[in-house]
Amino acid sequence: MNQNSNIEFISRESLEKLQLSRLKETLRRVYSFSPFYKNLFKKEGLTPSKIKSLKDLPLIPFTTRKDLRENFPYGLLSIPLNDVVRLHTSTGTTGKPKAVFFSRNDINSSAELIARSMKMTGAEKGDVFQNMMGYGLFTGGLISHYGAERLGLLVIPAGAGNTERQIELMFDFKTTVVHITPSYALYLADVMEEKGFNPKKDFNLRILYLGAEPYSEKTREKIERIFTVDAYNSYGLSEMNGPGVAFECKYKEGMHLWEDNFIMEIVDPSTGEPLKEGEEGELVLTSINKEAMPIIRYRTGDLTYIYPEKCNCSRVHRRISRIKGRADDMLIIRGVNVFPSEVERILMDLPEVGRNYQIVLDRKKDLDKMKVRVEIKRDFFDGSLDHLKKVEIKIKAKLKDELMVTPEIELLEPSSLPRTTGKAKRIIDKREI
Ligand code: ADP
Ligand code: ZN
Repeated sequence: MNQNSNIEFISRESLEKLQLSRLKETLRRVYSFSPFYKNLFKKEGLTPSKIKSLKDLPLIPFTTRKDLRENFPYGLLSIPLNDVVRLHTSTGTTGKPKAVFFSRNDINSSAELIARSMKMTGAEKGDVFQNMMGYGLFTGGLISHYGAERLGLLVIPAGAGNTERQIELMFDFKTTVVHITPSYALYLADVMEEKGFNPKKDFNLRILYLGAEPYSEKTREKIERIFTVDAYNSYGLSEMNGPGVAFECKYKEGMHLWEDNFIMEIVDPSTGEPLKEGEEGELVLTSINKEAMPIIRYRTGDLTYIYPEKCNCSRVHRRISRIKGRADDMLIIRGVNVFPSEVERILMDLPEVGRNYQIVLDRKKDLDKMKVRVEIKRDFFDGSLDHLKKVEIKIKAKLKDELMVTPEIELLEPSSLPRTTGKAKRIIDKREI
């Protein structure tokens, strides 16, 4: 067994020992280099030596996105600037992008996590990997790229977008593995069909990595059916590594979070109190294998839970559930809490529903209103008006039944909603205007 696979199957005890020693080293580094952490520790009357076990970690306050912004650009840097070899920024889904830094060792360890994740799903030398994550400042492109090369795949650095070219590359070079956002995967299938290709038969695809945005199990199933592939959930964020923080194994039941690189906690998003395994809350991550910019107890905003059971694959790294969304994605429609990911789950379970949808929020007479615009499959869309009305009623009833909201429904023909090649923009919020 080589070193990579070893770390995946060591005992819990050895893993925690490694976590503690890496945590201590990380704390010493941030305390001595980073002005932000030096200050934070001083304010709390803490020194790294006070953290004697993993249980002591909560003595340190959380680090938030606000802290990153307020200490932009170098406040969290924990090595001399001339040892930094790479800058990335987050995509800025929620406000001004955050800058993150990598040392040479960080680049290697990030790539190692991707290589390990891909290997876990069965990708291997001989596979042709077309990376449809955006290159450039976004971590998705370059980090996945380095990881796949490390594993020995043939990498096509296609980036996001230019869909016709993507299809041509997939066809010509017999692409077998793709990393892509789920919304772009659906769009890609649309374009393939428009161009007269059969996504099931005309390509050599076998593995898809779907990540960078929340999506439902139903969407995964849909994508697997469209392309006849195995699609694995891939989770990450720029602040921690880029992609490769947590990944599904062949069992596709939750994502193994690489606990030799990150310590995870789940907390109540409103109080910050710790929650138990199995309880849903906000994921808090501490990077313990980073040099340039380790972050301690980072509030990711992402809602998930830890699976209490061990995975059938017997890896020691615990699994997190599919991300429900960010705590601040939650919509409150007339007092009812709704997550866009739940709307998606319900829509994608209906056979009449096509591949894209959008939620429009508006305010009338001080009341929030929600409209769901949803693409319907061609067969249904071209049916009688009477039939369309029935589809509309069915969608409305389903949403009311499961979410207790009654949105207005607008049925649209296939491919009529705007597409993005990266993260989808599902919510149009007209309430502030
Ligand atoms: P930004 O915070 O600007 O979007 P990133 O590009 O680093 O920056 O995106 C990271 C975020 O993307 C995560 O915090 C999470 O909300 C979302 N994300 C990434 N992968 C997944 C996934 N597999 N499922 C759901 N959400 C994901
Ligand atoms: Zn597993």
